[in-house]
Amino acid sequence: MTRRRPAVRWPEPVRQAIRTLERAGYECWAVGGCVRDAALGTPPHDWDLATAAPPERVLALFPGCPVNRKGERHGTVGLTIGGMALEITTFRVEGDYSDFRHPDGVRFTGSLREDLSRRDFTVNAMALHPVLGFYDPFNGLSDLRERRLRAVGEPMERMREDPLRILRGLRFYARLGLVPEKATAAAFRACCPMLGRISRERVYAELDGMLCGEEVRAALSLFPEVLAAAVPELAPMAGFPQNTPYHLYDVWGHTACAVGAAPPAAAVRWALLLHDIGKPGRFVPDEDGRAHFKGHAALSAAMAEEILTRLTMPKAERKKVVQLIRWHDAPIPAGRAHLAFWLRTLGKEQFFRLLAVKRADNAAQNREYSDRWPELDRLEQAAVSLLAEGPPLTPAELAVNGRDLLGIGLKGPEIGAALRRLTAGASRGDYPNQREALLEAVRRMKRL
Ligand code: ATP
Ligand code: MG
Repeated sequence: MTRRRPAVRWPEPVRQAIRTLERAGYECWAVGGCVRDAALGTPPHDWDLATAAPPERVLALFPGCPVNRKGERHGTVGLTIGGMALEITTFRVEGDYSDFRHPDGVRFTGSLREDLSRRDFTVNAMALHPVLGFYDPFNGLSDLRERRLRAVGEPMERMREDPLRILRGLRFYARLGLVPEKATAAAFRACCPMLGRISRERVYAELDGMLCGEEVRAALSLFPEVLAAAVPELAPMAGFPQNTPYHLYDVWGHTACAVGAAPPAAAVRWALLLHDIGKPGRFVPDEDGRAHFKGHAALSAAMAEEILTRLTMPKAERKKVVQLIRWHDAPIPAGRAHLAFWLRTLGKEQFFRLLAVKRADNAAQNREYSDRWPELDRLEQAAVSLLAEGPPLTPAELAVNGRDLLGIGLKGPEIGAALRRLTAGASRGDYPNQREALLEAVRRMKRL
C-alpha cells in the first residue's frame, strides 16, 4: 500500500461531503477516474466518492441538497452540493457496468479494498483522501508512472466478465498512453469476440473517445482484431497490401497512421478511420502487379453511412464524416472558381476539415514519392484570402432575395435557380455581391 499526498485541488463541496460522512462515522474516499487524473496532475472532470454509508444514510446526511436517485438501486446517490454534482456510491462488490452483464443486484460491503478490487484497471482502482492521501492496494501509481495498463486481478476473467473493459482499455491506451501489459493485452485479443454483446451506443462512445487520443495510432496498429470485433467491416483492412509507389503500409497500417496524423477533431478522425474501408472491395491489380482501387471513396462513404448509423452517431455528425470520406481523394485544383465551388459545396468549416483529412492521408503515404503538403498549404492560403473577401457561399448571403427577383419579373422556379447562379457567380468574383450588380447580372442572364 502506498500513501502519499499529491498536490490536489480539492473542490470545497467534495471536502465538505467527505467531512460530513466521516463525522457521522462513515469512511469516505474519492475513487475512480478522478484519482487517476489527480495522480497525473490533470484536473478531474468529475469527482466520484465511495463510502461505507448505505444510500439511505447518505440521503439523510445531506438534507436540502438536490438529489438524483437514478442509481440508488446500485448504491449511487447523486447529490448537488454547493452547485457541484457529485456521485456518492456505497462500497459494493458487484458492478453494473455493461448491458451484457445484469447482476441480480449489488452487494454492499464495508471494505474499500473490496470495492476497488471490482474495478477494471489498476490505475482506476485507487482511492484518494484529503488527509490520508492515496490508498493504492493494486499498485496503480507505479503502473501510472510506468505508463502501464494492467487489469485488476486475472485479466481473462475480468474481460470475460465485462468485455466493455477491452474498449475502455484501448481508450485509456489511446488517450493516456497507458500500454496494456502482456497478459492484459492477450486478454483483450482473446476476449474481443464477445464485444458483439455490448450495446452500440457504448461501443460508439468508447471508439469516439479512443479516436481523439494522442496515442491512437499505436492502439489501432497493435489491436486490429479488437477494432474488427467492434466494427466487423474493418476486418479485411488488416494485412491488405497496397502495391503502389504511393504507399508504405497495408491498408490498416496506413489507416492507423493517418488517424494519428490528424488533429484531434472527432469528425476528421472518424473520416480517416473509414476513408479506405472500401479499398479491399475495389481492389484491381494491373498486369504489372500494381494495385488500383478505383471508386473506393464512394464505396467507403456508403459503408461508413451504414456503420455510423448502426453505431448511433448523431445524424449531423455522420453526414459530415461521410462527406469527408466521399471527397477525401477528390482533386481540388487551385484557382478561384474551383475553390469557390468547393467552399460553396462543403461550407467553410467542412472545407478546412477536408484539407485536414487530405493532409493526414498524405502524411501516412510515401511522401518521398508524392508530397502533397505544399500544394495543400497553398490551397489553404488561397481559401483564407478568398474568404477574407466575404463572398456569399449560400443564397441567404446574397445582397438580393427572392422578392427582389420577383420584382424584376422572375417567376416560380426561375427564382431559386437564379439565386443559386448568383451565389456561384458572386463567390467566383464575376461580379460584386451588391444589389445593383446582382440585378444587372440577372438581367444579363435573362437576355441570354
Ligand atoms: P473517464 O475519465 O472517462 O470518466 P473513468 O475511469 O472515470 O474515466 P467512468 O466510466 O467514469 O470512467 O467510471 C468510473 C470508475 O468506475 C472507473 O475509474 C472504474 O474504477 C470503474 N469502472 C467504470 N467502468 C467499469 C467497468 N466496465 N468495469 C470495472 N470498473 C469500471
Ligand atoms: Mg469518470
